[in-house]
Amino acid sequence: MKITDVKTYILRYQLREEEVFGYSQGWYGSRSAMIVEVNTNEGITGVGEAFGPPEITSAIIEHVYKPYLIGKDPMDKEVIWEELYNKLRDHGQKGLSVEAISGVDIALWDVIGKNLNVPIHKLLGGAYRDKVKVYATGFYRKKTHHQTEDLVKEAIQYVENGFKAFKVKIGFDLKEDVTNVKAIREAVGDDILIMIDANHAYHASTAINVGRRLEPYEIYWFEEPVPPEDIEGYIEVKQALNIPIAAGEAEFTKFGFRYLISSRAVDIVQPDCCVTGGLTEAKKIATLAHAWNVQCIPHVWGSAIAIAAALQLIAALPTCPLSLNPREPIFELDQSPNIFRENLVTEPVQVKDGYIEIPKKAGLGVTLNRDFLKRYTVKR
Ligand code: CA
Repeated sequence: MKITDVKTYILRYQLREEEVFGYSQGWYGSRSAMIVEVNTNEGITGVGEAFGPPEITSAIIEHVYKPYLIGKDPMDKEVIWEELYNKLRDHGQKGLSVEAISGVDIALWDVIGKNLNVPIHKLLGGAYRDKVKVYATGFYRKKTHHQTEDLVKEAIQYVENGFKAFKVKIGFDLKEDVTNVKAIREAVGDDILIMIDANHAYHASTAINVGRRLEPYEIYWFEEPVPPEDIEGYIEVKQALNIPIAAGEAEFTKFGFRYLISSRAVDIVQPDCCVTGGLTEAKKIATLAHAWNVQCIPHVWGSAIAIAAALQLIAALPTCPLSLNPREPIFELDQSPNIFRENLVTEPVQVKDGYIEIPKKAGLGVTLNRDFLKRYTVKR
């Protein structure tokens, strides 16, 4: 089998004024996605997604990766990965060049799965689970209102919708963060898993202060307390708190995760397969974490393609450590407004009683909604 073409699609739409949402690093007024399509001489097509600014990841693929990819056999995905990485190694060991590889790599896995007529999790070694507990990522801020009572209402809504876990955005203001999380915990009781995510808005000292005040409220993990470069800050926060510390959505490749894991800076690593180098690299990072007895719970944030890829990955992750009552990985499902999450494929995920079933169809197990893709593709 040979690759005959590689296409990139930039999708974008503007949010309505009442849909605009914020987190500790800024406001979202539009949604976008960068979808990669790999065509082959056997008529099999694979799709992938790259996180990050779409105009730049698509340009990297079109100008740097595509000329190399034409004529290659998709089955040689690891050879392809290493050679693509090496093309920009001297210019981008992290960031957009690796995000662009991610989109290509996921599309290659989709091609291979379809070619062999098996779901990707079979190619990753098999499924440890048929379904995965899902957690809602929400509690973004709105320009019109951002009061504690609105966040409490949102929490109650998730519980009513069957979610047994959710992640609260913090990193705005120390006092406000503590008040909000406390009110949410008191409203939903002790049976719901609550995570907190500062999106690296704090210094280590502030993160420790917030964490200490929130320790009585059973926090399942504290995500990105400090910036990704501040490994020593992570170590300080982890040593000071009785809350598991998580990070990794802004880390790249086995090379980047090597030090994050071996320095004992985090309890949980969160590689995102649309960021960190695709499924090829995410599986290697999970293995690296396993070897250090660090839990791997992937980050997920994007369109239906990103979700489909992450579901295949999480199916194939061993519990770490294994026991009669292990801490199973849980699946991130963003709740911010995004029609690309809901309508880009003909099989959007369904949450049933707080769980999502792992798709068992070939490849990623999803079919692109071509009319929808065309309608939202930005003209270039
Ligand atoms: Ca996060």
